[in-house]
Amino acid sequence: MEANTKKCGRCYLLLPHSDYYYQSNTKDEKANYCKKCKSEYQKERRKMLKAKEPATYLLKESCRAAYERGGATYKRKGYEHVRCSFDNVRDFQEALWNDEFFRSEWIAQTDVYVKYNKYKYRPTLDRINPKLGYEKDNIRMLAQHINVSRDKAV
Ligand SMILES: [Zn+2]
Repeated sequence: MEANTKKCGRCYLLLPHSDYYYQSNTKDEKANYCKKCKSEYQKERRKMLKAKEPATYLLKESCRAAYERGGATYKRKGYEHVRCSFDNVRDFQEALWNDEFFRSEWIAQTDVYVKYNKYKYRPTLDRINPKLGYEKDNIRMLAQHINVSRDKAV
């Protein structure tokens, strides 16, 4: 790793130290998330806590991001062949929510995330087979910190 750079724990980009806020309790005295991620994280968290149903809110946000990643115009490296089999975000969200097992896991993980206030506990959508896209039988819930090895958490 180059000097004066640090890998963000949320977007995984290697960024200069100036992209991080000061934090006294870390080894390098820099926050673990870059400024942009920190602000996105705090914004999402505020919205989630204000929402009547935090689990529903988080699922909608994840489905929206996955739907976007599965779109034909999404060009980020590694996602060229990822497709979303749902026609819209609402159908996507409903299909998952109506699955009793998925729903119970998503709700349980949301409770952990709400309680401990750590991004690593956020429930995310994992593609079981990374070669396949976002299709009903290829999606499971994984906590963010388990779903990072292939950098595909949403
Ligand atoms: Zn970041």
